[in-house]
Amino acid sequence: MTQDCLFCRIYRGEIPSDILYHDDLAFAIRDIAPRAPVHLLVIPTRHFVLADDLDASSEALVGHLFTVGREMARREGIATSGYRLAMNQGDHAGQTVDHLHVHVIGGRPLGREG
Ligand code: 5GP
Ligand code: ZN
Repeated sequence: MTQDCLFCRIYRGEIPSDILYHDDLAFAIRDIAPRAPVHLLVIPTRHFVLADDLDASSEALVGHLFTVGREMARREGIATSGYRLAMNQGDHAGQTVDHLHVHVIGGRPLGREG
């Protein structure tokens, strides 16, 4: 199910990366170019490019990504101060890695986006 993409390669261990969390459905890493004091990525172990590629059978997975994001925010100490869960979709959102992922961003006031 995995592909020759960056996040699939990290998941397979072909690119060394500190995996902060993993289970059968998802894993979490720190963003290599953090835009805030806390910037993690929660990534499904299965390769999807866009939310548009998900189907009804993936609804539980999407909920799980948010559960993991919420747990990572708690572990990073930003659950109370607030944080952003964001999924960039395609060109206009600036998606740079074509494997669906949730950004967990916080640790400073983030302002508004979009
Ligand atoms: P996107 O722009 O697709 O929403 O998010 C992709 C994110 O992946 C970017 O924030 C980028 O900094 C991050 N990224 C790109 N290459 C790597 C890498 O090799 N390792 C990690 N941990 N993050 C990466
Ligand atoms: Zn992938």
